[in-house]
Amino acid sequence: MVTLKYQAAVIDENCTGCKKCVWVCPTEAIHMEDNIAIINDDLCVSCPNCHGICPDDAITRVERAEPKELKVPLEDVPAEDILDLCRKANIHPKQWHCLCTATRAEEAAAAVLKGAITPEQIALDTGTRSGCTVYCQMMSMRLLEAAGHELKKPEKWRWYPTTQSIWNVPQEVVDKYAGYFLEEDKDVFRKF
Ligand code: SF4
Ligand code: SF4
Repeated sequence: MVTLKYQAAVIDENCTGCKKCVWVCPTEAIHMEDNIAIINDDLCVSCPNCHGICPDDAITRVERAEPKELKVPLEDVPAEDILDLCRKANIHPKQWHCLCTATRAEEAAAAVLKGAITPEQIALDTGTRSGCTVYCQMMSMRLLEAAGHELKKPEKWRWYPTTQSIWNVPQEVVDKYAGYFLEEDKDVFRKF
């Protein structure tokens, strides 16, 4: 859950139309019109990406007219379904999904169970990806894959590669380095 107090805004006269902001926006909130970036206020989660990458100081942050709350109530989804999806993803429901916004995996799982099929949609439902925009991306991908969704990378570099964890060490590596007890470690984690 996140309460957004700010949003991005374009300073038209500084925009050179390079599109860099479009490619890094985690919620696809920016498009171009007449070579000027346009921001959809409803889709902006006020992350640091666009104004961080803009080479021409053409993006600033402004206060929203009204704070906007992004939240998926856990009571909307049966608790056992949340647990089941988290188990499939090898994620504890109380584990942090997004450290920047203090969102737990159970809320993102609820967003998936309510219909989110992309990391961008999870971000818009829960407010995640409004901080570093990186860590929660990996968590969202794991939940979506566990729910059976095929992930299609948006244009350019908006997605980051999955952060390596014990769950995606290739089996031949696990077997080759048996002395590191990775299989045994996975069994212990599964018990939680
Ligand atoms: S990154 Fe900056 S200059 Fe480039 S399109 Fe976006 S607002 Fe315009
Ligand atoms: S979500 Fe982030 S990158 Fe997208 S418009 Fe808002 S502040 Fe910019």
